[in-house]
Amino acid sequence: MLLIRTKPFLDESLESYLLRLSIHNGYNKFQSFWAGVRSHLNESTRGIDSALPSELSKINICHANVSSAKRLDALRLVSQLTNHEPLPLLSLALFRGGQLFSRKRTSVFNNGVTIPFRFLRTKGIPICPACIKENVYIRQHWHFSLFEACPEHSVLLRNHCDCGEEINYLSSHEIAQCAKCGSNLADLEATVSSAPQREIAHWLSGRLVEGLPAVIQSHSWGICLWWQETFNDGKDIDSEQLHLFLAQWPDSLRSYLNCKLAHSKEYALKPFNQLSFKDVFGLLLIQASRLPSTNLSENIVLKEIVRYLEEHVFEPECLLSDLKLNSIEAAIILGTSVEQIAVLVDQGELQTKSRMKANSVLNANWRVLSLGDVFCLWLAKFQTDNSHSNVFISRW
Ligand SMILES: [Zn+2]
Ligand SMILES: [Zn+2]
Repeated sequence: MLLIRTKPFLDESLESYLLRLSIHNGYNKFQSFWAGVRSHLNESTRGIDSALPSELSKINICHANVSSAKRLDALRLVSQLTNHEPLPLLSLALFRGGQLFSRKRTSVFNNGVTIPFRFLRTKGIPICPACIKENVYIRQHWHFSLFEACPEHSVLLRNHCDCGEEINYLSSHEIAQCAKCGSNLADLEATVSSAPQREIAHWLSGRLVEGLPAVIQSHSWGICLWWQETFNDGKDIDSEQLHLFLAQWPDSLRSYLNCKLAHSKEYALKPFNQLSFKDVFGLLLIQASRLPSTNLSENIVLKEIVRYLEEHVFEPECLLSDLKLNSIEAAIILGTSVEQIAVLVDQGELQTKSRMKANSVLNANWRVLSLGDVFCLWLAKFQTDNSHSNVFISRW
């Protein structure tokens, strides 16, 4: 059915590729092209078109509500509608990631990188005029809200045309033209970005940036999500503020932890030895536990938190040792599972600070374990190749 096999760009979005494919195959309107594809598939495989939405903005695999496997099958069939080798639709698609970030935040997966779903832009998709001038296609990273600047040209992405129209190829079906005034988007002027905006764009693209933490690309996205939830109340990220925090890493995190500790000592309503870890540090460990992995060699946030706790837990003036943890927090520190914590309690390796009824099962949310005991156990029993000790060395 498709005579021309359009060549994809490596960093192109699936939706951009489909638009170009329809143009190259002689369709004036994307809707006509896509209606033809859907009805053709329906003839050969009954009902398959229900797995392919009619709107361009909903076609990608990560937007499948019920079954992404059905959507994947449908796109695989579309990729075979050519006499040439199959179309590269699946390699351009954004998949639902198998990994969760932080507190059950879903992810998308593309080209080996896991990115929190919440950073996927849902309204306009901005563009870099200089990129469009070089090659007319939509770069996948323009879909992610943390890119304020173009990593190639060091200019700010344009959200609007000079006429005021929001740029969104998913609704206009135009890659290089304004849907309202018809202007060529490649001719729009672009403002030079600030150094922090540029460096955050480079860092999120997986490049090494001097002065910013060296982490794998999925973890740089995880750190942004963690920072947004911990320091920005979940609001949109200002890349200049984020850059300020990261450029002072790890001192920026240590100052934050010192402040939390000092604040609780000053203002806590209960004596310090009756406080839980959550009373002092909130959901610190849980928010930092999956960025997206818990492996301390990759998760620099968790590594720095554990290092901080290890340094201070047995200092008498810090009073950290008595803070109460639940099983989830203890499991994060020990690099093990909640079930394993229950077994350790059952075997008497870990003591609970409140008396439990005989034969009762440890509830994962009960804050009955002390931070000091958990660290003692780690020092005594968990120093194996699989524990945290393989990535940092204890002082004792
Ligand atoms: Zn550019
Ligand atoms: Zn316009």
